[in-house]
Amino acid sequence: MHGLDEARNARFRALPQLHRLLETPEAAVMLGRFSRTEVVMAIRQALSEARAGLDDAGIDSPNAAGLLALAETALTRAACSALRRVINATGIALHTNLGRAPLAEEAVAAAVEAARGYCNLEYDLQSGTRGARLQGVEPLLCELTGAAAALAVNNGAAAILLALSGLAAGGEVVVSRGELVEIGGGFRIPDVIRQGGARLVEVGSTNKTRLADYAAAITGDTRVLLKVHQSNFRVVGFTAEASLAELAALARARGLLLVDDLGSGTLTEAGRGREPTVRAALAEGADLVTFSGDKLLGGPQAGLLAGTEAAVAPLRRHPLMRALRLDKVTLAALEATLRLHRDHARATERIPVLRMLSQTEAQLQRRAERLLASLAGMDARIVPTEGEAGGGSLPGEALPSRAVSVAGLPAAELARRLREGRPAVVGRIESGRVLLDVLAVADDEVDEVARAVRDAFA
Ligand SMILES: *Cc1c(COP(=O)(O)O)cnc(C)c1O
Repeated sequence: MHGLDEARNARFRALPQLHRLLETPEAAVMLGRFSRTEVVMAIRQALSEARAGLDDAGIDSPNAAGLLALAETALTRAACSALRRVINATGIALHTNLGRAPLAEEAVAAAVEAARGYCNLEYDLQSGTRGARLQGVEPLLCELTGAAAALAVNNGAAAILLALSGLAAGGEVVVSRGELVEIGGGFRIPDVIRQGGARLVEVGSTNKTRLADYAAAITGDTRVLLKVHQSNFRVVGFTAEASLAELAALARARGLLLVDDLGSGTLTEAGRGREPTVRAALAEGADLVTFSGDKLLGGPQAGLLAGTEAAVAPLRRHPLMRALRLDKVTLAALEATLRLHRDHARATERIPVLRMLSQTEAQLQRRAERLLASLAGMDARIVPTEGEAGGGSLPGEALPSRAVSVAGLPAAELARRLREGRPAVVGRIESGRVLLDVLAVADDEVDEVARAVRDAFA
């Protein structure tokens, strides 16, 4: 026993002291990159880990170089941003966990300019007096949707919260049981309704809700009929739902407002058919339509509301509007994105999400072939896949795509190495192989993906 303690104490004494370590050339290099406090803390931490390790018999006390290397690794890791660039090889264009829509270059430029300096965010340059924050975005939203009035807030969930708080607080909101959906991340429509201070009245059943079900549920307290787009799932088989036009007629006859939460909300008819457009929802009689900025719109995270003046006016004045308002950087990117949407062909060419969703199989095949060619000599091949729009858009609609399937390492290990690379590459695993789907990989990212795969095997 005594002998063991002796040995341990000897190893303890052999550890270099903090002030000696700080005088080394290695520490001088670190002190050039980081503050003294950070370097001292990192070396202390390395020393304390080394001391803890001494209790495990048989482990040598690390030397100065080893301790300094540990400190340096920790400092470098702490200094790199938690938010890192990812190449999206999942085959899901609007991947919520990966930040949904990449922005068009026009939107990026507008955001950078707004971020860098001052702008007339709430200032009227003509009169030199206070201006409206949404002066740029509202007219564009009206033009693109045919709405009389429009607003923009922080995200789609905020748009619904604002709509229900402003139009139904203290009253009742009637929703079909088939539409009490969870959108993702635990966000459920019934919770938002309650949060908005309204009472939820459920009607119909999961698969069938008829107009008569809504009509029978209306009381003197009813304020809003809410339609929620089934954005991330599809009910098939024995189903029925009341059409928007029928609900609009019912709402009008009973003096209620019809709010349509479209979720994704495309602005243009063209493109991939099944997602209803905001314009069509308004034309069918919705008083207010809510949708996201970073789904099929392809812009920054935002929640957009378009509707009649009567529906929008109470929201514009609502205290939540202040709490949910957009910052200048997002507004600049949103305005630039909306501007692109004025010309459908240009929008499809310039907005990355729209470009991805309109790729031909031949284009995807060529990109996959380029990636495969860069992986010559490895166990890789092209496989046909089904990509998705994602983000609760175009559910159940498979987008034919291509992936490069890579083997040669256990799939989970290869996927981990790719995730931890710089940039990170996120793919998916199928049948024991890593699939790198090219649907959401930009042409100028192909070489980076190839390098990442080679590095992962290095
Ligand atoms: C995505 C979605 C939302 C939420 O929008 P966020 O911008 O993600 O907050 C709300 N309703 C529906 C139907 C959706 O698809």
